[in-house]
This record gives sequence, structure tokens and C-alpha cells, in this order.
Amino acid sequence: MSNILLDVNVVVDFCCERVPHFEPILKALRLAEQQGDVVWLYVASVQTLEYVLSNELRRKAAISGRQLDFLSSHAIAKKQLTIFSRNKHWLAAISEDGPVFRENDAEDAQLVRAVRRLGGKAYLLTRDKTLQRQCKQAVSPDEYVGLKRENDPFPFIDLSSQQRKIRPRMERRMFNVLSHGKYIMGPEVSELESQLADYVGVNHCVSCSSGTDALLMALMAKDIGPGDAILTTPFTFFATAEVIALLGAIPIFVDIDAQTFNMDPDALERAVDALNQEDWEACPMPRAAEAERLVPKGIIAVDLFGQPCDYDRINAIASKNNLFVIEDAAQSMGAQYKGRRANALAEIGCTSFFPAKPLGGYGDGGAVFTDSDGIAEELVSIRVHGQGSDKYENRRIGLNGRLDTLQAAVLLTKLEIFPEEIDFRQAAADRYARLLADYSSSLTSPFVPDDMNSVWAQYSVLAKDAQYRERVQKGLSASAIPTAIYYPRPLHLQTAFSQLGYQAGDFPVSEDVGSRIFSLPMHPYLTEAVQQRIVDEIKRRLDGDDT
Ligand SMILES: *Cc1c(COP(=O)(O)O)cnc(C)c1O
Repeated sequence: MSNILLDVNVVVDFCCERVPHFEPILKALRLAEQQGDVVWLYVASVQTLEYVLSNELRRKAAISGRQLDFLSSHAIAKKQLTIFSRNKHWLAAISEDGPVFRENDAEDAQLVRAVRRLGGKAYLLTRDKTLQRQCKQAVSPDEYVGLKRENDPFPFIDLSSQQRKIRPRMERRMFNVLSHGKYIMGPEVSELESQLADYVGVNHCVSCSSGTDALLMALMAKDIGPGDAILTTPFTFFATAEVIALLGAIPIFVDIDAQTFNMDPDALERAVDALNQEDWEACPMPRAAEAERLVPKGIIAVDLFGQPCDYDRINAIASKNNLFVIEDAAQSMGAQYKGRRANALAEIGCTSFFPAKPLGGYGDGGAVFTDSDGIAEELVSIRVHGQGSDKYENRRIGLNGRLDTLQAAVLLTKLEIFPEEIDFRQAAADRYARLLADYSSSLTSPFVPDDMNSVWAQYSVLAKDAQYRERVQKGLSASAIPTAIYYPRPLHLQTAFSQLGYQAGDFPVSEDVGSRIFSLPMHPYLTEAVQQRIVDEIKRRLDGDDT
């Protein structure tokens, strides 16, 4: 994918079908469309475009013996430009494009600055020979058509298509923040919190600095500390268990379900019973369990890969045993379980706005959700150093855990298209499932129970064995198709948790899944053609083995 910025002369050539320049620009624009190259118009060119096109229209009319007055030619020019710009993107002018009066050609100087701001492979399409000499990126339409092209690597997650879609609104929101200057807890933060609370369907949303801090704040609001035990799964991102240990509490792992990869409610029940009965042989327990008489306080259930856990059962086990439940919904924002949204499926929901998550920002961020007024009040205090009723009263130990105003501005824009993106993700997941169906004996597609839906933070497939996984991953990588393994090493086998005393074999399902699972590229803008190519490549590797 390349970015192409259009100079005024080629736009006018195109709109006026100016001979002999029309054919080359027509060819170039057609090729751009075929290639998926992105065509940009520069905002600061607008007036020149209108003026030059209008003049050219009058000149053309005069040659063919017609009279076209100034107003009519302007009206036609505007209409043509409206149509022409419809499938193009607008590249903003920024302040540094202003002071160009000392340059030989002010407009050219602006275009050169603008094209340099377009990342990756970027070209300025122009008929201006001087510009072509002065600027490496400036090419004629013919030169553009003749460029050598290589296959672009597929992105694992495509954030640039999304950005182009929302860039104008995002720029407005970000400039707003630069103007009002309330960089900490500005109006965008509370606007985002209220929109997110509505979206999720809970009373309170407390935004914060990351998904990790969301989990940490939730545990702090529950006064978790040394001597406490929190049950969670070993098949998750490190942060889930890290925050437990950070507060001096002990994570107690329970194995996952072999089909959903989420916490297995039966395993949870066994572990809770074992703790209550102090039966240290019933299931794998950390070394400290017996020695320190740990008190189980709560559960962190993780909606892995964007799919909710079995909350009816988990919440029931919790309430029977007087435990709280925190939903780690870092990957599942927007998912649903029995008609309710992720983040609202337990007493406290925690999400992450890390860029690669389903609702990701342009930096770190997170949020905590709850219906409880009391917990929300604690969270608000913890977020700012345990703040009390005024800034210099600290009623407890807290954090600096705020979400930046600029990040909230980005997220507000992304939230506008989020529901639509979830539909796109579902469509992409359906296509993968259909394309991979013939190969289900070697590659198991994800399983989603009837009463829930996933937001497909990852599309993770299970290979028949570790060698299969390696072969397919290597094959895809040779064709520049990225894959990833979430998670190769379950947390009970991580060095950082070695003091817990767990052993290999303690959580056989997590260990087995970790040795065979891998994730395919997944994002809302994945096309059927790309997915077909990915699956063809997978099939080639699998067939190679079968014969
Ligand atoms: C990403 C993630 C987190 C941590 O979120 P950050 O915003 O990166 O701190 C926690 N739990 C799970 C399951 C995650 O995927």
C-alpha cells in the first residue's frame, strides 16, 4: 500500500480531460484503486483547485466557441471537485505549512512538506518537472504506473485503515484538546466515561491509565493484600496475575476449558472447595496455601480472545462462597453474554485500551466498570493518590492512574465506529470458519457457545500438534503473513511465579493448548480476498504434510 498525494495540475487534467495529460492520470488513478493505494488531496490546495479548474473550464469553453461566465465555471468546478474528492482522503494542513513565502514556489513547498508527513511509501503525483527534480517523492503519473511493486506484508492488526476512516473527526477532537488545554481530566474524559457506561450498561465507568491499572485498582478497591488468595487462570496475559502478586496476595490458578480456553467452572469449584476444606491434595495449590492459611477472597475471570466466560456458573460459585468476581475484559469490550455486555458480567469489569485491543487508543489506557456506588467512589479515590474530598487530603494509598485527555479524545472518535467494527470482526471470523471448515481434523476453529458472542480480539486456532503449528506458522511467515502465539507459556510456568511452587503438569489443558494454539491476522478491515490467501497458504502446508 502506498500513499499518493495529488498536485493541483493532475486533478485539473483529470477533471477537464485535458489532452494529452488525461490518459496518464486516468491510468494512474485506476491502478491506485486496483492496488489499494490511498489517494490524498491536500486541504491547502482547495482554493487553487477551484480557481485553476474554473479557469481551465472557461478556456476550454472559449476554444469550442462557447461563452462560460465566471460564476458558472466556478459552479461547475465545485461540482466536479465534489464528485472527484468523494473516494479520496483529505490530508490536513498544519501550522508548519504556513511560512513558505521565502520559498521560490510557496504552494510546491507546502506540498513537499505535506507529502513528507504521509508515512510509509508516499508519492506526490505531479506533472510539474521542477517539483519532480526537487522532491524525491514527486513522480509523474507515468512514473507512478511504472513503479516496481512488491507485495506488502499483511498487517496482523490493521490500524491504518481505521485511522483513515475517522481521521477528520479525530483531528478535530485532538485539536480541541490542544485548544482548551485541559490535558489532565479534561471534559473528554468524563464524556468518554459516560458514553462507555451507557454502552456497557452499568452505572459507573472509571477510566484509568491501562488495563493493568484497571485490574490493580479493582483489587485495591476490594482491599486485597498479603494473606489473600485470588483465583484466576494461568492461560492469560501476564498482567492478570501480576496485579495480584503486586499487592502481596497469592494467585491460585485453575485450569481452562479445552474448547473455550476460558476458566473452567468445574476446576474453579474444585479449587474453592479444596481451599475451604484445606485439602491441599485435591488440586494443584501454591506452596504458600498450606503454610500461610490463605483466605480466598475473589476471582479474576478472563474473557480470552474476546469471548466471555460462563458467568452464570462463575458468579454462582462466587456468591455461594462469599467471593467477589472481577471480569478481566481487556480483550472483550463489546462482546455479549446472554444479552448483557462484557465488563458488566461480574461485580467489577476491567478493560484495556491498548492499541491492539478491540477498542484501542493511541497509547495506554483502561477503564473499570461497576454498578456499585461504593466501589466507584473507591476507584475514583485510588485513581488519584487516594484523594479525599479535596486535593490535599489523602484518605488512603492510591496511584497516579488517570487516563490522558488526549487519549479520551481518540477513544471517543473510535467509539463512534466501534459497533460497526464489531460486525466487521464477526463477518471476518465467519469467513475464516467457513474457509477453514474442510481442515478441521488438523486445525480447530474457535468454539463460541450459543448464549454469547466474541469480539474476536484474536482469531486463535488449535493445531493438531506442536509440529503442525510450527509448520503452518513457518509457511505463513515465508509468505509474509504474520501469526502470533497467545500464550506459549502458561503463567504457572513463568519464572516470575516460580516462588509459587507450581509444576509442569499442574494445569494440563492450559499447557496443551499453549503448545498448539496460534492466532491468525484479525481486524475489522480484513477482506475476503486476503483471508482466502491466508487460508490457501495454510492448506498448502497442511496438504504438503498429508501426501
Ligand atoms: C492486555 C491485557 C491486559 C493488560 O492491559 P494493558 O492495557 O496492556 O495494561 C490485562 N489482561 C488481559 C487479558 C489483556 O489481554
